[in-house]
Amino acid sequence: MPGKLEKKLIIKFLGTSSEESIPREGCECVQCLSKDKNDNRLRSSVLINKKIMIDATPDVLKQLSKRQIDALEAVLITHEHADHNGGIKDLLRARRDIRIIKLAAGQHFKLLGIDFHAFKVKHSNLVPTVGVEINSVIYIPDYADLDWAMPYLKNTKFAILDGSVLGRNFGGHLSINETVALTKPLKNLRKIYLTHNGHTRRTHKEMQKLVHEIGDSSFVIAYDGLEIEV
Ligand SMILES: [Zn+2]
Ligand SMILES: [Zn+2]
Ligand SMILES: [Zn+2]
Repeated sequence: MPGKLEKKLIIKFLGTSSEESIPREGCECVQCLSKDKNDNRLRSSVLINKKIMIDATPDVLKQLSKRQIDALEAVLITHEHADHNGGIKDLLRARRDIRIIKLAAGQHFKLLGIDFHAFKVKHSNLVPTVGVEINSVIYIPDYADLDWAMPYLKNTKFAILDGSVLGRNFGGHLSINETVALTKPLKNLRKIYLTHNGHTRRTHKEMQKLVHEIGDSSFVIAYDGLEIEV
């Protein structure tokens, strides 16, 4: 819940996949063949109060038209990986007036009445990466560990975290299993949404069941179009 002075946030998931959208071309796994619309995922970004987007994926134009987004004013970029910044050019070609803000660790600012704070997370040796505190909601789509994010996670009710890989850490991503193990004991967290969902070859339904089993009912596998109000 927002503090007294905090504006209410409506966060919409415009995309929830990792490096590539799902289904993957030519793949015949259950995830890619699924008829459930929650298994169709574009690359990860969120829209805040209809006007601010975090990350501009290569799917950005598709995401804007699919969700009929016409009030977009600014885009915040978490890091320079193509699945997070690869849509900037397309976006600016279509909408020249949009402000692009490449976030840096330690940055703190107010935009359209919402507080943003970027903090450093470990993800890639080559590419500096941040997590974002949006009022008091934590958004970190990519991380290799949660060490530097812990102080923020201990101080929020809602977190949106990295759901890229299952079972073992891989390619700069902490496994879902470890994310669950690290965040389950934090009783302040009311809901933990997993985004940046990888090609796990399990359906949304199966993944949701799994995180309930290894975690509890506070863990939610995000899907494209999911909207939360906090
Ligand atoms: Zn597949
Ligand atoms: Zn990345
Ligand atoms: Zn990514």
